[in-house]
Amino acid sequence: AFCKVIGFTKEFLIDNHYTLVNSEDMDKETYKELWETIKKDKVWRGEIKSRNKEGEYFWLQSSIYPIFNEEKEKIGYRAIQANITNTKKVAQLLKESQLLEEKNRDSLKLVDKNIIVSMTDVNGKITYASEASSLVCGYSQEELIGKSHSIIRHEDMSDELFDDMWESITLNRTWHGEIKNKAKDGSFYWVDATIYPTFDENGEKTGYTAIRVNITDKKKIEDLLITDGLTGVYNRRHFKETLPKSINIAKRNNTYFSFLAIDIDYFKDYNDAYGHQMGDNALIQVAHALQNSLLRASDICFRLGGEEFALFFETSEREKAYQFADKIRRTIQELHIEHKNSKIDKYLTISLGLVTISSKESISAEELYKEADAYLYKAKESGRNRVESNIT
Ligand code: GH3
Ligand code: MG
Ligand code: MG
Repeated sequence: AFCKVIGFTKEFLIDNHYTLVNSEDMDKETYKELWETIKKDKVWRGEIKSRNKEGEYFWLQSSIYPIFNEEKEKIGYRAIQANITNTKKVAQLLKESQLLEEKNRDSLKLVDKNIIVSMTDVNGKITYASEASSLVCGYSQEELIGKSHSIIRHEDMSDELFDDMWESITLNRTWHGEIKNKAKDGSFYWVDATIYPTFDENGEKTGYTAIRVNITDKKKIEDLLITDGLTGVYNRRHFKETLPKSINIAKRNNTYFSFLAIDIDYFKDYNDAYGHQMGDNALIQVAHALQNSLLRASDICFRLGGEEFALFFETSEREKAYQFADKIRRTIQELHIEHKNSKIDKYLTISLGLVTISSKESISAEELYKEADAYLYKAKESGRNRVESNIT
């Protein structure tokens, strides 16, 4: 798909530098920011203007990730991109011409059919919804008119995102971001949205226009990269990327946050007794039980590798973190996964290392992980199937 967009063959592209497709008028600041971000092993997200073989411009909405080998050495970068050229052109068209003007009827028909665009009044009530936007969400154009966009709001999206959006557009700035929406049938779709205010000839604000690109497939591919293939919970890559972020978010709440390192007891013996396939099934069961035990939207479950998992979660009190961890320990034991080779129980069990921190204290992701791992080691040493923690 990349070759198709840029017009060069795979053979030609391999071993050539990416600057080949960088437009010379790509904003220098953006380019600098991109490199600074990925050199720090962070993900960069943004729009890149490039040119194809014929010298024509196109826009790619891009996510660029560093990639590592088994030894954790960086070996390169991966870009996942969606072509948003048409949307960019439409945005330009809509900006230049007042929508619904006579001379633009033909182009507007094209827009209506192909582009997910909607307009609202200053209060956010929908005044126009294109045929394409009605198709993607499953509500008819009539059903959408007069409603607010909350009709397609998905529960996974945070209030903060929409607060940020409203703050920008009420200050007459353009807002740009990725939004998960909910269709009429309950399914979800992701859009890359650009929202800007519109004005009449007297400079009075008339409302807002939103132009969106469907990026559901791009999101699904991104999800694959951060999901553990066997169990479906987040993988180590995602763990490394999000733990620092999760800590920062938790610090803003007046709560306690916890990191819980989990390791299955005598799992090598489990494989020896029941075979690798049954071992995999047990891993899936444990992962699901851990995932289902989470209480808040911000709580996360990771598989860090092999039979090691980790949970990051918040609680209102320090002691609740310990109770939560011990409940998880019992939950796994009570799955009643028979383990005849275990030296401590007739069922499969786990050992847990818990570190709970007040949001007022400060700790790095590395320290948090290291400390929890030390408590996990202690739990193993002192008999397994137990929680060891910094809560005395
Ligand atoms: P301990 O109680 O000390 O944790 O003992 P253990 O046997 O669980 O620990 P050890 O780290 O020695 O062994 C982990 C085993 O987990 C090794 C391997 O057989 C098994 N394992 C790791 N990944 C997988 C997997 O993806 N599938 C299966 N079936 N087994 C796995
Ligand atoms: Mg282990
Ligand atoms: Mg183990």
